[in-house]
Amino acid sequence: MTSLRVSVTDRCNLRCEYCMPEAEYTWLPREDILDFDEITRLVRLFVRLGVRRVRLTGGEPLLRRDLPTLVRMLARIDGLDDLAMTTNGVLLAEHVEALRAAGLHRVTVSLDTLDRAKFTQLTRADELIRVRQGLAAAAETFPGFKIDTVLVRGINDEEVEPLLHEARALGAELRFIEYMDVGGATRWTYDQVIARDDILAILRQRGPVVALDGRGWAPAERFALANGQTFGIIASTTTPFCRTCDRSRVTADGLWYLCLYAPAGHDLRGALRAGVSDDELAARLRTTWEARADRSAEERASASDRRPLVPLNSLRRNPHLEMHTRGG
Ligand code: SAM
Ligand code: SF4
Repeated sequence: MTSLRVSVTDRCNLRCEYCMPEAEYTWLPREDILDFDEITRLVRLFVRLGVRRVRLTGGEPLLRRDLPTLVRMLARIDGLDDLAMTTNGVLLAEHVEALRAAGLHRVTVSLDTLDRAKFTQLTRADELIRVRQGLAAAAETFPGFKIDTVLVRGINDEEVEPLLHEARALGAELRFIEYMDVGGATRWTYDQVIARDDILAILRQRGPVVALDGRGWAPAERFALANGQTFGIIASTTTPFCRTCDRSRVTADGLWYLCLYAPAGHDLRGALRAGVSDDELAARLRTTWEARADRSAEERASASDRRPLVPLNSLRRNPHLEMHTRGG
């Protein structure tokens, strides 16, 4: 257990087709959302148990008020080597300085298209201009930052090369993520997935693509183009990596998920608010993690008839099944 994703809100200012395609959502009750002291206490316990990397996510993490205050509290935790955030970039330009000053180490910006009309269609918000301002701000404040792109057949599969070109211009490393059949992806079908091999085939029409060694702890496989540009592919759908997964996630209301696909989480908010001591809570985390046997992405990859993970009516009843609640 070395990597923890912490969702700070389930709200979002975009409605990406592959994550929040519905017209309406059931939000987590406000009183259930963990405050910064509660989040910091949990992260400290996780770090005590071996976590070294924390990523703030959401929903859209920049919608959480005073996020730099939380970053400052987390950045002070001894033993936490890497404090990162994943954002859709819309609000990044206005917050990037404060986040850096508060001690954020790294930022990843999600970007799926460079075409304004397509962006608006894909996210149901005309925000590409602000996202590009956010990208420019990230390039300045967090040089070498990462860009994450979900490819969806028929929507942005024509943009593999333009997106790589943009990343190079920004001094960023692009990672292509296969479209996953996670909770919120109610419109997911297998034929929309642009698989790792499809991406490599597109690029190999133009020139050699070399696989790089040393995957390290990241789930991305890395490659280099003939011009030296490196990029990653996260093939979670076609080539899952459950056996090396060291990651778990905490939702904004304090449920702990040992797997992105897990049907249920472990309630840490209840324990925090019931006055359970640090030692007792740490012991519970350890026992739960040691019993972990999740390998859902591998199981789904071997299923013959693959459909969206959760029927829509179940999602409405249980927002914890959503990707925007679990933090991606
Ligand atoms: N709102 C922020 C953002 O979009 O970067 C952070 C939360 S978002 C849930 C985290 C990541 O999950 C994003 O990079 C997003 O593209 C990715 N994601 C969401 N739904 C996905 C899906 N169905 N398949 C693959 N990746 C997905
Ligand atoms: Fe898009 Fe991220 Fe919002 Fe999901 S949480 S709709 S991926 S911006």
